[in-house]
Amino acid sequence: LIRFDNVTKRFGDNVVLDDLCFDVSSGKHVTLIGPSGSGKTTILRLLMTLVEPDSGTVKVSGDYLFHEERNGKLEPAGESHIREVRKNIGMVFQQFNLFPNMKVIRNITEAPVHVLGLSKEEAESRARELLELVGLTEHIDKYPSQLSGGQQQRVAIARALAMRPQILLLDEVTSALDPELVAGVLDLLRDIAQTTDITMLCVTHEMNFARDISDDVLMFDAGKIIESGPPEKIFSEPEHERTQQFLNAIL
Ligand code: ATP
Repeated sequence: LIRFDNVTKRFGDNVVLDDLCFDVSSGKHVTLIGPSGSGKTTILRLLMTLVEPDSGTVKVSGDYLFHEERNGKLEPAGESHIREVRKNIGMVFQQFNLFPNMKVIRNITEAPVHVLGLSKEEAESRARELLELVGLTEHIDKYPSQLSGGQQQRVAIARALAMRPQILLLDEVTSALDPELVAGVLDLLRDIAQTTDITMLCVTHEMNFARDISDDVLMFDAGKIIESGPPEKIFSEPEHERTQQFLNAIL
């Protein structure tokens, strides 16, 4: 479903992703771990087309994300092509990023109405179902500032799911939360992982969560995947010394 081929990304002299290749099959839950600055967030930002690769290709559902095939050649993609491929992908950020001037319900209906072309009624009915799923039905008419961080993050999860994406990207979604609110958000995500067929790509420092939901764990260091495999292997018998050091430092 997702395929990175020889992707390199630099910021100035800093090689953040170094000739990276990996793929993620449909329905899998893949966790990216590794030290700060190793390039994990950049991968999610690439998939959201918030940054472009310097070289290499990214494919989503068989379509190139940054390229289009024209006359048998691979050319830079136009904006409408990128928008189409991007519709398959939802993201939840560390800092929630809700629209502060919109009530909860409109935060969730805005994109389905304007991007997918759903009627207001359809979008609201979908939003109500999702608010029930995330346990926030009674907060439907509140503004984000009237909610706790954990509740805001649940709204952000509902907002991402409202687009019915094939792929959900989660970028350290609990690291801005008060400790007592973390478990609720992780339980919700566990539930979504178990009950839907959505493909998840997840950057997290919550190793118990990663162990529970992941089919595969990718260990990054300096823009490369140095080790990958099922969580039982990576967490219990890591092969690479760098992985051992990293896990010892955070567990
Ligand atoms: P963290 O766990 O701290 O979020 P990470 O593994 O997600 O780390 P990235 O956020 O992908 O790492 O960043 C990788 C490197 O790219 C870092 O050195 C960072 O400073 C740099 N970087 C990221 N975005 C930019 C940018 N817009 N401009 C310049 N440098 C950037």
